[in-house]
Amino acid sequence: MIIQYCKKCGKETEHKELIKQKPSKYGKSKQEQFKAFIEGFFGGMASPAGAALDLVDRYVECNECGLKTLDNQGEEFL
Ligand SMILES: [Zn+2]
Repeated sequence: MIIQYCKKCGKETEHKELIKQKPSKYGKSKQEQFKAFIEGFFGGMASPAGAALDLVDRYVECNECGLKTLDNQGEEFL
């Protein structure tokens, strides 16, 4: 459980964490796969830690009002 400020409730509330896999933006063709590899390669060079996190979106959902907030900072990722 995460205690975090909720802008809808206007106070700190309990949140639960949700992880969603991002749908791939690339097609199935060899050309598209190659493009994905190249972008992944250079993306990985620029930010080694960010490369793997790029595949998921991390949300927190307020337990009181159900507001979902995108929270892709990744520091708490184990
Ligand atoms: Zn809330």
